Amino acid sequence: MRQKIVAGNWKMNTLLQDGLELAKAVEELAKSKKCDAGIIIAPPYTHLAKVSEVIGEVKLAAQNCAAEESGAYTGEISPDMLISVGVEYVILGHSERRAYYNEDNDLLNKKVHLVLSKKLSPIYCCGEVLEEREQGKLFDVIKEQITVGLKGLSGDDMKNVVIAYEPVWAIGTGLTASPEQAQEMHKFIRDLLVEMFDTTVAENTTILYGGSCKPSNAEELFANPDVDGGLIGGAALKADDFIQIVNSY
Ligand code: PEP
Repeated sequence: MRQKIVAGNWKMNTLLQDGLELAKAVEELAKSKKCDAGIIIAPPYTHLAKVSEVIGEVKLAAQNCAAEESGAYTGEISPDMLISVGVEYVILGHSERRAYYNEDNDLLNKKVHLVLSKKLSPIYCCGEVLEEREQGKLFDVIKEQITVGLKGLSGDDMKNVVIAYEPVWAIGTGLTASPEQAQEMHKFIRDLLVEMFDTTVAENTTILYGGSCKPSNAEELFANPDVDGGLIGGAALKADDFIQIVNSY
């Protein structure tokens, strides 16, 4: 059975002290979680080393990483650096990275390969903007993001890949995909994985939903057969809300 995951993306929020408090609170509440979903938090780079010391069973993710192993890339953070501070997952292709930093599917494919070669797990994000949905292009967009972003991976590589479907129009907007819209796209992605790999890979790949997921709507989203958890933005900044979402299973 594929793993259920709830991951919190803190984005560029919290100073180190607040971040440490939040991480400790998540760890404390996670001890009493009522389900077997794995919990991941993705604080800003500056917090990772300290946060990793206080999170117990909670796993650590970075929000991005470099596409190169090391060298003269001012301002970049390599996968090895992330590993050295306890990171196990890396969010790649978040819509904010795609939109504001011009990260395209080819660059993301390079990052996915690099991350996997280091035994880190990518949380590979995909999602359509509102215009693409309204024009009926949503499935083409997601197909392109997944086929190019995950190009050249083996079935074995896929054991370490998590996919996050995040409709861009639902991120940070308060709009959420309906449970039916989420299920429809998650099923589409799983069918695509059958075409690209095989049924076993498709059945074992965790596909998260992201986009204004909160305690009040998590249960109906997670109830869908192809929704294996959530990537949570705003609601991950409050430990109580975040753990309530985890407990929606
Ligand atoms: C995100 O940024 O990944 C996200 C899902 O944000 P929010 O939950 O705030 O919409």
